[in-house]
Amino acid sequence: MINKHQGSCLCGSVKYELLGDFQSFFLCHCTRCQKDTGSAHAANLFAKASTLTWLQGEYDVKTYQYPNSLHAKSFCQQCGSALPTIAESINSVVVPAGSLDSPVSIMPTAKIFAGSSASWSANLGDVPSYEKLPGQTKS
Ligand SMILES: [Zn+2]
Ligand SMILES: [Zn+2]
Repeated sequence: MINKHQGSCLCGSVKYELLGDFQSFFLCHCTRCQKDTGSAHAANLFAKASTLTWLQGEYDVKTYQYPNSLHAKSFCQQCGSALPTIAESINSVVVPAGSLDSPVSIMPTAKIFAGSSASWSANLGDVPSYEKLPGQTKS
């Protein structure tokens, strides 16, 4: 049986389906991923020999390829959300974990480029944690 995964962007313009299995799940702390996510790391699942189908909104999907590198990012041009990218050089589809609507079936495999980690992203276990935005009624 082939596993089926679904995902979408924040504004809902783009929806996709992936047929295949995830072999690895990397939290990439490289400086490029910090820029393109605006956060401490990317969280990408890798599915070899899988099939990506855009169910809707394919015309809103843009892919940025960082020059002379393997770094690429696909995103919705309406809302900027990260979307899957086909990485032909490794015959894989790279899926941003946060773009999935179906359950993420595996746990992270590894942190990579940990040497480039943002100084503020260490020891986050000590930061206070709230169920929602403190003191607000909207989420
Ligand atoms: Zn969107
Ligand atoms: Zn990276």
